[in-house]
Amino acid sequence: MKIGIVGCAGRMGRMLLGEVIAQDGLVLSGGTESPGHENLSDDLGVLAGVASQGIIAGDDTSALFDASDVVIDFTVPATTETHAALAAKHQTALVIGTTGLSAEDQAAVETAAQKVAVVQAANMSVGVNVLLGLAERAAGLLGDDYDIEIVEMHHRHKIDAPSGTALALGKAVAAGRNVDLEQQSVRVRDGHTGARKTGTIGFATLRGGDVAGDHTVMFAGDGERIELTHKASSRSVFAKGAVRAARWTEGQKPGLYSMRDVLGLG
Ligand code: NAD
Repeated sequence: MKIGIVGCAGRMGRMLLGEVIAQDGLVLSGGTESPGHENLSDDLGVLAGVASQGIIAGDDTSALFDASDVVIDFTVPATTETHAALAAKHQTALVIGTTGLSAEDQAAVETAAQKVAVVQAANMSVGVNVLLGLAERAAGLLGDDYDIEIVEMHHRHKIDAPSGTALALGKAVAAGRNVDLEQQSVRVRDGHTGARKTGTIGFATLRGGDVAGDHTVMFAGDGERIELTHKASSRSVFAKGAVRAARWTEGQKPGLYSMRDVLGLG
């Protein structure tokens, strides 16, 4: 299976290169970076911190999709529309880990998924995908007497907030309560906010240091509190999950799939 990595010099891109190089049965078909990027022409093995692979980072995205069975995208939302269109054009499966997509970006992903298999997940780790199921179940069991707050922390370089994973957890608890997250979410609190409104789902964002990703879903009732927490101590869990998703696309019909589909979590 030939796997290409867009954004190959990024924090996740380098991890993904390392995973594809290390795993049996996979061929690294190439890696791209944005035009003018300082790592263009660097060897992909060197970018991954392993032995030279004799393949250099390029900026011809169309050629990369053409040469790959599947492309893994952990880049920036602005590139999503282009990458989705190229996947459909070249009949190349796509794994999208990029978060912070606009409604238009998401629509482009859904259009591409009519032509090819696309796996999209705000978090590719096994643990977080289990947490999504647990949070949904707990929200359904506990009901509105328990206030739900979702707290996340990431490294200082992260550019979107709340994290895609926090929003996915929000959707999971909203589904558990049978409500619409958009109607219930409170994303910012500042100044004289008044008392907490029953049934709302609150988000709090922390940024600092090199934290790979911490998420807690808190159910705060009268006299007790349940906290479901996931802590990623290495980005490698996301890279391993993304490569697992890439392998899983082989032979799949066109469609938009989640990591829960890949992991068989239902
Ligand atoms: P990063 O800034 O380190 O890397 C992004 C890379 O994409 C950069 O090297 C950038 O130059 C490159 N890029 C931008 N435009 C490009 C283009 N047109 N063509 C090719 N490359 C291009 O960021 P990161 O920490 O690696 O995170 C990337 C994304 O992945 C973010 O949206 C982040 O939230 C998300 N993420 C998702 C998961 C998950 O499990 N789904 C886990 C970690 C991060």
